[in-house]
Amino acid sequence: MEDKLHFKRIYTQTIETEWLQAKHVLLHVLRLDCIHPVISGNKWFKLKYHLSKAAAEGYNTITTAGGAYSNHIAATAFACRTAGIHAIGMIRGERPPVLSPTLERAMADGMQLEFISRNLFRDKTILQQAFPQSYFIPEGGYSTEGAMGAMEITGYCSDPEQYTHLVCAVGTGTMMAGLVRAATNNQKVIGISVMRGNTALKQQVAALLGPEDLGKDYSIEQGYHFGGYAKHPPELLQFMNDTWNTWQLPTDIVYTSKTLFAIFDMLKNKRLPPRSKILMIHSGGLQGNLSLGDGVLLF
Ligand SMILES: *Cc1c(COP(=O)(O)O)cnc(C)c1O
Repeated sequence: MEDKLHFKRIYTQTIETEWLQAKHVLLHVLRLDCIHPVISGNKWFKLKYHLSKAAAEGYNTITTAGGAYSNHIAATAFACRTAGIHAIGMIRGERPPVLSPTLERAMADGMQLEFISRNLFRDKTILQQAFPQSYFIPEGGYSTEGAMGAMEITGYCSDPEQYTHLVCAVGTGTMMAGLVRAATNNQKVIGISVMRGNTALKQQVAALLGPEDLGKDYSIEQGYHFGGYAKHPPELLQFMNDTWNTWQLPTDIVYTSKTLFAIFDMLKNKRLPPRSKILMIHSGGLQGNLSLGDGVLLF
């Protein structure tokens, strides 16, 4: 499967600047965004064990759920097409008159779209049982299989144990759970919530951990959502353009720009100590920037 997807190499990019140097901070960005234009970033890791399980159990259809701009929906559609499995995407809300670029893309990749009213969508059993002959992946890929795949992410660094902090964006918390599971007891995992006031996240992460993770140090930051999910005020767009100009690092409006901003802010206000060795996971999601008008971003 991985051969068929023609994955590109994942590498770490060093972020250097005077004020980071003055604090003796090491900041590496793990560029998962580079592996594939559609199955970008963490989505492949969250899907891989589901795909192999579905194939092993003889399913020829995979069903999953998500919103109209969901990177998980786009990634699942593409991965299923490559694997030769039929995909059904249950999309939250009524069918809009104009489909989002994400849904257009998913449909072009052969995904069957089913629009589910917001009320029904809330009921996880309804989603799970809607297509009983198919293999079901929960909304956004939230699952122990997803966390298991995400455990492999830090394996793409040359020396993962050198880091004192692993920092990532949090949507469902699946990727973060995988990082916590992969972390040593001396490392701290910090998740940046991209939603306003989602206080259930810590519990959501904890539910994907095992007994061996009881001593692990992890926390979720709630102050960097910039107004809420996918909100992108001008100061965030400015930050993204500055980041591109300075380090040629592209970020997305939903997840990775807010994560990098949070790291800088926490270093400046000393919530992350000097001499920290930080690994930020660039979890991808650049296709989400397509919802912006032309010329807003420099990349
Ligand atoms: C989906 C996604 C996340 C969130 O991952 P979860 O495992 O749902 O927390 C983070 N970053 C990007 C770019 C994503 O597409």
